[in-house]
Amino acid sequence: RVVDVKHALSGAIAPGSKVRINGWVRTRRDSKAGLSFVSLSDGSCFDPIQVVAPAALANYESEVLHLTAGCAISAEGELVASQGKGQAFEVQASSLSVLGWVDDPETYPIQPKPHSPEFLREVAHLRPRTNLFGAVSRVRHTIAQAIHRYFDEHGYFWVNTPIITTSDTEGAGEMFRVSTLDLMNLPRTDKGAVDFRKDFFGKEAFLTVSGQLNVEAYCLALSKVYTFGPTFRAENSHTTRHLAEFWMVEPEIAFADLAEDARVAEEFLKFIFRMVLAERPDDMAFFAERVEKTAISRLESIIASPFAQIDYTDAVEILKKSGRKFDYAVEWGADLQTEHERFLTEEYVGGPVVVKNYPEKIKAFYMRLNDDGRTVAAMDVLAPGIGEIIGGSQREERLDILDRRIAQFGLDPKMYSWYRDFRRYGTVPHAGFGLGFERLVVYVCGLANIRDAIPYPRVPGSAEF
Ligand code: ATP
Ligand code: MG
Ligand code: MG
Ligand code: MG
Repeated sequence: RVVDVKHALSGAIAPGSKVRINGWVRTRRDSKAGLSFVSLSDGSCFDPIQVVAPAALANYESEVLHLTAGCAISAEGELVASQGKGQAFEVQASSLSVLGWVDDPETYPIQPKPHSPEFLREVAHLRPRTNLFGAVSRVRHTIAQAIHRYFDEHGYFWVNTPIITTSDTEGAGEMFRVSTLDLMNLPRTDKGAVDFRKDFFGKEAFLTVSGQLNVEAYCLALSKVYTFGPTFRAENSHTTRHLAEFWMVEPEIAFADLAEDARVAEEFLKFIFRMVLAERPDDMAFFAERVEKTAISRLESIIASPFAQIDYTDAVEILKKSGRKFDYAVEWGADLQTEHERFLTEEYVGGPVVVKNYPEKIKAFYMRLNDDGRTVAAMDVLAPGIGEIIGGSQREERLDILDRRIAQFGLDPKMYSWYRDFRRYGTVPHAGFGLGFERLVVYVCGLANIRDAIPYPRVPGSAEF
């Protein structure tokens, strides 16, 4: 029967069983005794399995001795306890067939040696074959499963919000256009007529920057909901933490205030970290060994202690009194810069920090105005090394104040008439947050660059795949 490598190495199959294993060759080593050892990976787990191919195989000289990294093979044989150190089991092949050769082994980009992440970004379609990207892919999958599992276990419903939209949630002007509305360059049919279908039916349209406003509608009916999907931002993403296309998780909770929002964010992150440590020990051990020494220990310590919470106003005082010379001066009213976030997380606290109650001028119009009239009930969850991984807030549920803020931000009230309806018909306090999925992947794996946390990074000037 066909078994995957993970199953074959798990100890669940009795030694002596006949198995068939399919996969791709990592390395081949030939012994003087007339045997070849083929290390075979199928991506089901971190480790490859060793396939022992004896010279007695009919195709030993014609094929086995020509196997190189990347060749696809199917091996049949007995699963036996391994003599060598390292793995408990190996396959003694009684037949081995080659499914796919590597055209030109000399120039095959994925050689059995460590490659730099920079080089691997150039071959994004081949990099999942490496140890690093195999591990990132499996951990990314497990984080996504943990996200859905957390919400499901806590009574949240998954809501899919539009990807093509006509409103700019944040009013921040970071939307990619879907339609051109450029009268000189409208798409044409073969006959030369204007083809409005291809211009989003003649309407102005964009790719979503956040599903929040849409998901609020569902929170005010189903109480606990979340979106989890692709998000797009036309920002200058020449940083190690911004992508033009990324995935965002946005829970929205009715009858909740900022304190509850922060409690959920902390419980949620800890749930994910625990599940990844429990389900991906081999991949995490690889990250700790090769990528970031503290990959495992820092998750364990985060799980073990409560997150620090600091008011924005206090954070400004802490930064001013730090005696540190920052490139950007710290002034009440200005957004915190990366260097400030790093100081708070890495030096002042030594762990994640929730900064709360930001000046209303630097946050979005929908965030709830505090009684002081100059701050809003917003929070950012900052993590050491990466900075903001979550941005959230209690939403403004009072129609008069919301209207004032829409005007103050210079937004067109007509665009928000449907959003105002929630405040007109049974309004209640509610809160939510947005988590950057790739930022979390970067943090969990200890990666240096967000471009390595998504299969196909979309950034200015990125290679086309
Ligand atoms: P930043 O200050 O880092 O630019 P932001 O405050 O603009 O982030 P939000 O609008 O609060 O981002 O979005 C919620 C979350 O989405 C952020 O906390 C972050 O984790 C993630 N995020 C935002 N922009 C990007 C991006 N360009 N690429 C990847 N993740 C992003
Ligand atoms: Mg931003
Ligand atoms: Mg921010
Ligand atoms: Mg933010």
